Amino acid sequence: MTEIWLHNTRTRKKERFAPIDRENVRMYVCGPTVYDRAHLGNARPVVVFDVLYRLLRHVYGADHVRYVRNFTDVDDKINATALARKEAGADGSLEDLIRERTEETIGWYLSDMAALGAMEPTDMPRATGFIPQMIEMIEGLIESGHAYAAEGHVLFRVRSYQAYGALSGRSVDDMIAGARVEVAPYKEDPMDFVLWKPSTDELPGWDSPWGRGRPGWHIECSAMSYDLLGESFDIHGGGNDLMFPHHENEIAQSCCAHPEGGFAKVWLHNEMLQIEGKKMSKSLGNFFTVHDLLEQGVPGEVIRFVFLGTHYRRPMDWTEKKRGEAEAVLRDWRALSEGVAPGAPDVEVLTLLADDLNTAGAITRLHALAKSASDEAAKAAFLASAQLMGLLTDELGGWDAAAEVGDDVAALIEALLTDRSEARKAKDFSRADALRDGFAAAGLIVKDTPQGAEWEMGPDFDAAKLEALK
Ligand code: AMP
Ligand code: ZN
Repeated sequence: MTEIWLHNTRTRKKERFAPIDRENVRMYVCGPTVYDRAHLGNARPVVVFDVLYRLLRHVYGADHVRYVRNFTDVDDKINATALARKEAGADGSLEDLIRERTEETIGWYLSDMAALGAMEPTDMPRATGFIPQMIEMIEGLIESGHAYAAEGHVLFRVRSYQAYGALSGRSVDDMIAGARVEVAPYKEDPMDFVLWKPSTDELPGWDSPWGRGRPGWHIECSAMSYDLLGESFDIHGGGNDLMFPHHENEIAQSCCAHPEGGFAKVWLHNEMLQIEGKKMSKSLGNFFTVHDLLEQGVPGEVIRFVFLGTHYRRPMDWTEKKRGEAEAVLRDWRALSEGVAPGAPDVEVLTLLADDLNTAGAITRLHALAKSASDEAAKAAFLASAQLMGLLTDELGGWDAAAEVGDDVAALIEALLTDRSEARKAKDFSRADALRDGFAAAGLIVKDTPQGAEWEMGPDFDAAKLEALK
């Protein structure tokens, strides 16, 4: 069996991965707060942990891996977005607007991530579906002296957990000095963090022993991972921006609530996607969304390829140059593997991926395999290796053929579009309608925008059918 080695943030070492139960390998990854479209940085952990998920499935069997990624659908930012809509005159109660916003955002997220070739996790729990479990966990923490209620809040008593700070390697006193800890009159200690907080009448809230309120962010992940994966599981992942305070707090809560368990054995953190040396983030305003790129016609597979070109523990930039190179490589690789049935993946690609997800090394190896793939068997191994990384899959295909339209076909399309707009101007509706129907029949997607008509080829595009419209 392939040995997997992973860099564990907790021990700061690369360790041989040994699942607690190889029949049931368990991974939890912190998912998005669903108040807006995912930016490109948010997609990085999705692609990184998708590669790990695929690798684990390959090694332990697809039915023996459970991957949980949550949706944080209780959050002040979601409330604020819904409130802004209400103030702008949107219909419905604030509660309706909040639900609408989270549903809409979850839908966008899933379709954007699917466009990047990310498989859906086995479980995608929403925080709002686990409120009783959070309340139960908080009650247990109060009983064991790790938390206290004050003025409608419940706070975790950080100094009651000796190992606090072990993951990020900081002492509590250093953290107080360096972090923006909120000093509040109801806190015993400035480091204590919120497990539960009161809600006003118009904000979402649930009845609890401490009055109507809502959970803090950190307890959501502790309660959902416990409910779905148990008190000990194998891997916990997320971006390294979550290491402190979110992951430290998850550890403190889970280990104090379930001292019999070990919570997560291996902690994996991806580095940040950057723009000019700074983390891409909504708060800095230096972001663009995955959807923006897809709309600009950048294939999801190209985005995925660019991501995999940098090791997950290194910062990376998105650049136009990388995008262009990725597109050219994938075009060649798709042409090479056209009509080939995947075989067994190349052992070296597998070994590289199993070495702490060396995706950049695996891509270098794929280049070599592509170069020497002269017979069907070699092509089959090449294709299976790429597919193990979620590349060259059928779902991500189609973009390469569609974009290869010749200049003469493009000129024909432009001429037909001019023809259509002239027919409309001359009120020749039968000609305009015939052209519209003809475009649809030829698989040409035409969008009328204020700047004029835009077109792209659908999956069934057939240039010969356009000829007939001249
Ligand atoms: P959020 O919705 O902000 O909680 O983020 C969702 C996920 O995206 C978390 O795992 C973050 O660590 C990750 N993330 C946010 N910004 C970036 C970035 N610039 N690069 C890589 N990962 C990021
Ligand atoms: Zn989390």
